[in-house]
Amino acid sequence: MKEYRAPEALAASVQAHRCSGRSIGFVPTMGALHAGHLRLLEVCRAENDVVVLSIYVNPAQFEPNEDFTRYPRDIERDLVLAHAAGVDALFLPSDETMYPGGVERQTVWIDPGEPATYLESRSRPGHFRGVATIVAKLFAMVKPDKAYFGQKDAQQAIIVALMTRELAMGVDIRVVSTVRESDGLALSSRNVYLTEDQRAQAPALKDALDLVASEYAKGVRDASTLEGLIMDELAERAPSGRVDYVALASIETLRPVTGDVPSGTLVALAVNFGTTRLIDNVVLES
Ligand code: AMP
Repeated sequence: MKEYRAPEALAASVQAHRCSGRSIGFVPTMGALHAGHLRLLEVCRAENDVVVLSIYVNPAQFEPNEDFTRYPRDIERDLVLAHAAGVDALFLPSDETMYPGGVERQTVWIDPGEPATYLESRSRPGHFRGVATIVAKLFAMVKPDKAYFGQKDAQQAIIVALMTRELAMGVDIRVVSTVRESDGLALSSRNVYLTEDQRAQAPALKDALDLVASEYAKGVRDASTLEGLIMDELAERAPSGRVDYVALASIETLRPVTGDVPSGTLVALAVNFGTTRLIDNVVLES
């Protein structure tokens, strides 16, 4: 595994691989690697000749009140895990590389439009502008054939796929299923913030989504009824959680789905335990 801090050196290496006819797969992350990230790397490894991993905690996707400074960072551990996962090139850009002169000097931003007005965006209005802009920069630096994103962050994956298609970036976006703890909690770098009591309640998110998926499969189709089932389950099983949203949304546009819910609808939710925000989702299948 080779480490790169300068984008020029990474670009030269990627270019050499491409000239030799090798395909380039890319997994962008913010580090503090866990089994969810490792699954993305595993799928990337299986589908590409060369695996590029980036680790960069992007200040522009944190709201002013969020955990940017205390976001978990453990580069020594990440190096060991990346090596074991068969990463060929590890890209560790500096803030100066990603935002020359500082993030406040950035003048051009990618506005993801309407899909970035729903779900997460209601309480994190600038989040996806930051995500889209950093992903666009990373794509320009890495020039991958395929890039891998987790279903856990469904809105992010949808926005990145739309951006890539509408801006003709020529990157194939692959979405990988959510990796979970044995009790169902979706793996997240932020799970380390949960207290023992909050951690015990956190599997309720997945249980509520499972409940709604099984009721949908049994024929319950009304959007408000399905939302109500989730709210009741969360109120009972996660009393310390404050529900930020429970949403039924189109998997293509993220527009709200009301009334009779079609198969393929995304059910997404966010619950705050103290200052720790957990998200999860499921796609309904009839
Ligand atoms: P992050 O480091 O949190 O920015 O995440 C980097 C990538 O890993 C994103 O595409 C996430 O959606 C994905 N990811 C995070 N957690 C999981 C998980 N539990 N299962 C699958 N993918 C995940």
